[in-house]
Amino acid sequence: MRIYEDPYLLQQQALAWRQAGEEIGLVPTMGALHAGHESLVTRARRENARVVVSIFVNPLQFGPDEDFARYPRPFDQDAGRLTALQVDALFHPSVDQLFPRSFKSAVDPGPLGDRLEGQARPGHFRGVLTAVLKLFELAQPKRAYFGQKDIQQLLLVRQLGRDFALPVHVVACPTVREPDGLALSSRNVYLTAEQRQHAPVIFAALRAAEAAFRTGERDAERLEQLARDRMAAAPGLAVEYVACFDEIGLQRPARAAAGNILATAVKLGSTRLIDNVVLGAGSD
Ligand code: AMP
Repeated sequence: MRIYEDPYLLQQQALAWRQAGEEIGLVPTMGALHAGHESLVTRARRENARVVVSIFVNPLQFGPDEDFARYPRPFDQDAGRLTALQVDALFHPSVDQLFPRSFKSAVDPGPLGDRLEGQARPGHFRGVLTAVLKLFELAQPKRAYFGQKDIQQLLLVRQLGRDFALPVHVVACPTVREPDGLALSSRNVYLTAEQRQHAPVIFAALRAAEAAFRTGERDAERLEQLARDRMAAAPGLAVEYVACFDEIGLQRPARAAAGNILATAVKLGSTRLIDNVVLGAGSD
Protein backbone atom coordinates (compact mmCIF):
# COMPACT_ATOMS: atom_id res chain seq x y z
CA MET A 1 0.00 0.00 0.00
CA ARG A 2 1.34 3.40 -0.91
CA ILE A 3 0.56 6.42 1.27
CA TYR A 4 -0.08 9.71 -0.51
CA GLU A 5 -0.14 13.06 1.21
CA ASP A 6 0.21 15.22 -1.89
CA PRO A 7 -3.19 15.47 -3.69
CA TYR A 8 -1.59 15.89 -7.09
CA LEU A 9 0.55 12.77 -6.78
CA LEU A 10 -2.56 10.78 -5.91
CA GLN A 11 -4.37 12.30 -8.89
CA GLN A 12 -1.49 11.40 -11.23
CA GLN A 13 -1.55 7.81 -10.02
CA ALA A 14 -5.34 7.63 -10.34
CA LEU A 15 -5.27 9.03 -13.87
CA ALA A 16 -2.59 6.49 -14.81
CA TRP A 17 -4.75 3.66 -13.47
CA ARG A 18 -7.77 4.94 -15.36
CA GLN A 19 -5.73 5.20 -18.55
CA ALA A 20 -4.62 1.61 -18.12
CA GLY A 21 -8.28 0.60 -17.89
CA GLU A 22 -8.19 -0.15 -14.16
CA GLU A 23 -11.37 0.83 -12.29
CA ILE A 24 -10.92 2.60 -8.98
CA GLY A 25 -13.03 2.20 -5.84
CA LEU A 26 -12.86 5.06 -3.33
CA VAL A 27 -13.74 4.83 0.37
CA PRO A 28 -13.71 8.27 2.02
CA THR A 29 -13.25 8.15 5.82
CA MET A 30 -12.13 10.28 8.72
CA GLY A 31 -10.05 7.42 10.13
CA ALA A 32 -10.30 5.77 13.56
CA LEU A 33 -11.28 2.79 11.48
CA HIS A 34 -13.61 0.06 12.71
CA ALA A 35 -15.43 -2.91 11.22
CA GLY A 36 -17.98 -0.57 9.59
CA HIS A 37 -15.27 1.12 7.55
CA GLU A 38 -13.69 -2.26 6.87
CA SER A 39 -16.91 -3.57 5.35
CA LEU A 40 -16.82 -0.69 2.83
CA VAL A 41 -13.17 -1.36 2.02
CA THR A 42 -13.75 -5.11 1.65
CA ARG A 43 -16.58 -4.46 -0.79
CA ALA A 44 -14.49 -1.94 -2.73
CA ARG A 45 -11.66 -4.49 -2.89
CA ARG A 46 -14.02 -7.06 -4.35
CA GLU A 47 -15.44 -4.77 -7.02
CA ASN A 48 -12.48 -2.74 -8.29
CA ALA A 49 -9.00 -3.27 -9.71
CA ARG A 50 -7.68 -0.46 -7.49
CA VAL A 51 -8.82 0.71 -4.06
CA VAL A 52 -8.16 4.16 -2.65
CA VAL A 53 -9.06 4.94 0.97
CA SER A 54 -8.89 8.50 2.20
CA ILE A 55 -8.36 9.43 5.83
CA PHE A 56 -9.09 13.09 6.32
CA VAL A 57 -10.70 14.71 9.34
CA ASN A 58 -12.45 17.42 7.38
CA PRO A 59 -12.56 20.70 9.31
CA LEU A 60 -15.20 22.13 6.94
CA GLN A 61 -17.84 19.72 8.22
CA PHE A 62 -17.36 20.42 11.93
CA GLY A 63 -19.12 23.26 13.74
CA PRO A 64 -17.13 25.56 16.03
CA ASP A 65 -18.33 23.76 19.16
CA GLU A 66 -17.86 20.26 17.79
CA ASP A 67 -15.13 17.68 18.30
CA PHE A 68 -12.72 18.45 15.41
CA ALA A 69 -9.69 18.90 17.68
CA ARG A 70 -10.31 15.82 19.79
CA TYR A 71 -11.56 13.53 17.02
CA PRO A 72 -9.46 10.31 17.33
CA ARG A 73 -6.54 10.02 14.87
CA PRO A 74 -4.84 6.63 15.37
CA PHE A 75 -3.08 6.84 12.01
CA ASP A 76 -0.53 4.02 12.33
CA GLN A 77 -3.18 1.58 13.49
CA ASP A 78 -5.47 2.63 10.61
CA ALA A 79 -2.68 2.22 8.06
CA GLY A 80 -1.99 -1.29 9.41
CA ARG A 81 -5.65 -2.28 8.98
CA LEU A 82 -5.74 -0.93 5.43
CA THR A 83 -2.53 -2.74 4.48
CA ALA A 84 -4.10 -5.99 5.71
CA LEU A 85 -7.16 -5.27 3.53
CA GLN A 86 -4.89 -4.91 0.49
CA VAL A 87 -5.70 -1.31 -0.22
CA ASP A 88 -3.60 0.14 -3.06
CA ALA A 89 -3.46 3.77 -1.97
CA LEU A 90 -4.08 5.50 1.33
CA PHE A 91 -4.69 9.20 0.81
CA HIS A 92 -3.87 11.18 3.93
CA PRO A 93 -3.49 14.86 3.11
CA SER A 94 -3.05 17.60 5.68
CA VAL A 95 -5.76 20.26 5.94
CA ASP A 96 -3.45 22.72 4.16
CA GLN A 97 -2.88 20.29 1.31
CA LEU A 98 -6.58 19.68 0.64
CA PHE A 99 -7.86 23.13 1.54
CA PRO A 100 -5.01 25.61 1.25
CA ARG A 101 -5.60 29.26 2.07
CA SER A 102 -6.11 29.91 -1.64
CA PHE A 103 -9.12 27.56 -1.71
CA LYS A 104 -12.32 29.60 -2.12
CA SER A 105 -15.14 27.49 -3.58
CA ALA A 106 -17.77 25.37 -1.88
CA VAL A 107 -20.61 23.05 -2.83
CA ASP A 108 -24.04 24.33 -1.86
CA PRO A 109 -26.02 21.21 -0.88
CA GLY A 110 -29.37 22.89 -1.63
CA PRO A 111 -32.48 22.56 0.55
CA LEU A 112 -31.86 18.95 1.61
CA GLY A 113 -28.70 20.13 3.32
CA ASP A 114 -30.68 22.24 5.80
CA ARG A 115 -32.86 19.43 7.11
CA LEU A 116 -32.26 17.02 10.02
CA GLU A 117 -28.48 16.72 10.47
CA GLY A 118 -28.05 19.96 8.54
CA GLN A 119 -30.43 21.76 10.88
CA ALA A 120 -28.57 20.46 13.94
CA ARG A 121 -25.17 21.09 12.32
CA PRO A 122 -25.35 24.23 10.12
CA GLY A 123 -22.85 24.10 7.26
CA HIS A 124 -22.13 20.41 7.85
CA PHE A 125 -23.19 19.14 4.43
CA ARG A 126 -21.62 22.07 2.62
CA GLY A 127 -18.36 20.91 4.20
CA VAL A 128 -19.02 17.25 3.45
CA LEU A 129 -19.91 17.77 -0.22
CA THR A 130 -17.05 20.19 -0.82
CA ALA A 131 -14.59 17.57 0.45
CA VAL A 132 -16.32 14.71 -1.38
CA LEU A 133 -16.26 16.54 -4.71
CA LYS A 134 -12.56 17.25 -4.31
CA LEU A 135 -11.84 13.65 -3.32
CA PHE A 136 -13.72 12.45 -6.40
CA GLU A 137 -11.64 14.68 -8.67
CA LEU A 138 -8.41 13.51 -7.08
CA ALA A 139 -9.09 9.78 -6.81
CA GLN A 140 -11.06 9.42 -10.08
CA PRO A 141 -13.28 6.63 -8.73
CA LYS A 142 -15.61 4.52 -10.82
CA ARG A 143 -17.37 3.62 -7.56
CA ALA A 144 -17.47 5.37 -4.19
CA TYR A 145 -18.60 3.58 -1.03
CA PHE A 146 -20.72 5.19 1.68
CA GLY A 147 -22.38 3.76 4.79
CA GLN A 148 -26.13 3.65 5.29
CA LYS A 149 -25.34 4.69 8.86
CA ASP A 150 -24.91 8.29 7.64
CA ILE A 151 -28.06 8.12 5.53
CA GLN A 152 -28.48 11.83 4.84
CA GLN A 153 -24.84 12.10 3.78
CA LEU A 154 -25.33 9.15 1.43
CA LEU A 155 -28.47 10.71 -0.09
CA LEU A 156 -26.79 14.10 -0.52
CA VAL A 157 -23.74 12.57 -2.19
CA ARG A 158 -26.12 10.78 -4.55
CA GLN A 159 -27.82 14.11 -5.25
CA LEU A 160 -24.42 15.72 -5.92
CA GLY A 161 -23.58 12.93 -8.36
CA ARG A 162 -26.88 13.35 -10.20
CA ASP A 163 -26.83 17.14 -10.25
CA PHE A 164 -23.33 17.40 -11.67
CA ALA A 165 -23.41 14.23 -13.79
CA LEU A 166 -20.40 12.87 -11.96
CA PRO A 167 -19.21 9.60 -13.51
CA VAL A 168 -19.17 7.89 -10.12
CA HIS A 169 -21.47 5.15 -8.92
CA VAL A 170 -22.37 5.80 -5.28
CA VAL A 171 -22.57 2.43 -3.51
CA ALA A 172 -24.61 2.21 -0.28
CA CYS A 173 -23.32 -0.25 2.33
CA PRO A 174 -25.35 -1.59 5.28
CA THR A 175 -24.71 -0.43 8.84
CA VAL A 176 -22.37 -2.67 10.81
CA ARG A 177 -23.37 -3.07 14.47
CA GLU A 178 -22.05 -4.35 17.76
CA PRO A 179 -23.69 -7.60 18.89
CA ASP A 180 -26.05 -5.56 21.11
CA GLY A 181 -27.19 -3.45 18.16
CA LEU A 182 -25.19 -0.26 18.69
CA ALA A 183 -24.03 1.06 15.31
CA LEU A 184 -20.24 1.13 15.09
CA SER A 185 -18.94 4.68 15.16
CA SER A 186 -15.56 6.29 15.71
CA ARG A 187 -17.31 8.39 18.35
CA ASN A 188 -18.30 5.37 20.47
CA VAL A 189 -14.89 5.62 22.17
CA TYR A 190 -16.10 8.84 23.83
CA LEU A 191 -18.78 6.93 25.78
CA THR A 192 -18.29 6.19 29.46
CA ALA A 193 -18.96 2.61 30.57
CA GLU A 194 -22.38 3.66 31.84
CA GLN A 195 -23.31 5.51 28.65
CA ARG A 196 -22.14 2.55 26.59
CA GLN A 197 -24.45 0.33 28.61
CA HIS A 198 -27.46 2.49 27.67
CA ALA A 199 -26.48 3.14 24.04
CA PRO A 200 -28.15 0.01 22.55
CA VAL A 201 -31.54 1.59 23.30
CA ILE A 202 -31.05 3.78 20.21
CA PHE A 203 -31.27 0.89 17.77
CA ALA A 204 -33.78 -0.96 19.96
CA ALA A 205 -36.10 2.07 19.75
CA LEU A 206 -35.78 2.30 15.97
CA ARG A 207 -36.38 -1.40 15.67
CA ALA A 208 -39.47 -1.23 17.85
CA ALA A 209 -40.92 1.46 15.58
CA GLU A 210 -39.96 -0.55 12.53
CA ALA A 211 -41.72 -3.59 13.98
CA ALA A 212 -44.83 -1.42 14.51
CA PHE A 213 -44.62 -0.41 10.85
CA ARG A 214 -44.46 -4.05 9.83
CA THR A 215 -47.55 -4.86 11.85
CA GLY A 216 -49.52 -2.08 10.17
CA GLU A 217 -48.76 1.30 11.77
CA ARG A 218 -48.54 3.85 8.94
CA ASP A 219 -48.75 7.12 10.88
CA ALA A 220 -45.25 8.58 10.58
CA GLU A 221 -45.63 10.79 13.64
CA ARG A 222 -46.75 7.85 15.75
CA LEU A 223 -43.75 5.83 14.59
CA GLU A 224 -41.46 8.71 15.58
CA GLN A 225 -43.19 9.01 18.95
CA LEU A 226 -42.87 5.31 19.58
CA ALA A 227 -39.10 5.47 19.13
CA ARG A 228 -38.90 8.64 21.25
CA ASP A 229 -40.88 7.04 24.09
CA ARG A 230 -38.67 3.97 24.04
CA MET A 231 -35.54 6.11 24.44
CA ALA A 232 -37.06 8.36 27.11
CA ALA A 233 -36.40 5.73 29.77
CA ALA A 234 -32.62 5.71 29.22
CA PRO A 235 -30.81 7.83 31.81
CA GLY A 236 -28.52 10.55 30.47
CA LEU A 237 -29.86 10.22 26.93
CA ALA A 238 -31.33 13.28 25.24
CA VAL A 239 -33.14 12.81 21.93
CA GLU A 240 -32.32 15.55 19.42
CA TYR A 241 -34.70 14.30 16.77
CA VAL A 242 -36.52 11.23 15.53
CA ALA A 243 -37.66 11.69 11.96
CA CYS A 244 -39.49 9.57 9.44
CA PHE A 245 -38.79 10.72 5.88
CA ASP A 246 -38.72 9.69 2.26
CA GLU A 247 -35.42 9.12 0.46
CA ILE A 248 -35.92 11.81 -2.16
CA GLY A 249 -37.20 14.98 -0.52
CA LEU A 250 -36.43 14.04 3.10
CA GLN A 251 -40.01 14.98 3.96
CA ARG A 252 -42.31 13.25 6.44
CA PRO A 253 -44.71 11.13 4.37
CA ALA A 254 -48.47 11.48 4.79
CA ARG A 255 -48.47 7.72 5.27
CA ALA A 256 -45.29 5.82 6.05
CA ALA A 257 -44.30 3.41 3.29
CA ALA A 258 -41.71 0.69 2.83
CA GLY A 259 -38.39 2.29 1.93
CA ASN A 260 -38.97 5.36 4.10
CA ILE A 261 -36.25 6.07 6.66
CA LEU A 262 -36.62 6.39 10.41
CA ALA A 263 -33.58 8.27 11.67
CA THR A 264 -32.49 9.64 15.01
CA ALA A 265 -29.80 11.76 16.60
CA VAL A 266 -29.25 11.61 20.33
CA LYS A 267 -26.82 12.90 22.86
CA LEU A 268 -25.40 10.63 25.52
CA GLY A 269 -23.66 13.10 27.77
CA SER A 270 -21.66 15.23 25.35
CA THR A 271 -21.41 12.51 22.69
CA ARG A 272 -23.70 12.86 19.71
CA LEU A 273 -24.73 9.61 18.01
CA ILE A 274 -26.91 8.96 14.95
CA ASP A 275 -28.61 5.86 13.61
CA ASN A 276 -31.44 4.90 11.26
CA VAL A 277 -33.44 2.01 9.86
CA VAL A 278 -35.24 1.54 6.57
CA LEU A 279 -38.93 0.79 7.09
CA GLY A 280 -40.01 -2.55 5.71
CA ALA A 281 -36.44 -3.71 5.18
CA GLY A 282 -36.60 -6.07 8.15
CA SER A 283 -33.89 -4.95 10.53
CA ASP A 284 -33.59 -8.15 12.53
P1 AMP B 1 -16.54 8.44 8.86
O1 AMP B 1 -15.13 7.99 9.07
O2 AMP B 1 -17.35 8.47 10.10
O3 AMP B 1 -16.63 9.69 8.04
O4 AMP B 1 -17.22 7.30 7.98
C1 AMP B 1 -16.68 6.94 6.74
C2 AMP B 1 -17.66 6.08 6.00
O5 AMP B 1 -17.92 4.90 6.76
C3 AMP B 1 -19.01 6.77 5.81
O6 AMP B 1 -19.51 6.46 4.52
C4 AMP B 1 -19.85 6.15 6.87
O7 AMP B 1 -21.23 6.13 6.57
C5 AMP B 1 -19.30 4.74 6.93
N1 AMP B 1 -19.61 4.14 8.23
C6 AMP B 1 -19.41 4.67 9.46
N2 AMP B 1 -19.88 3.84 10.41
C7 AMP B 1 -20.39 2.76 9.77
C8 AMP B 1 -21.03 1.55 10.19
N3 AMP B 1 -21.24 1.28 11.48
N4 AMP B 1 -21.43 0.67 9.25
C9 AMP B 1 -21.23 0.92 7.93
N5 AMP B 1 -20.63 2.05 7.47
C10 AMP B 1 -20.22 2.95 8.38
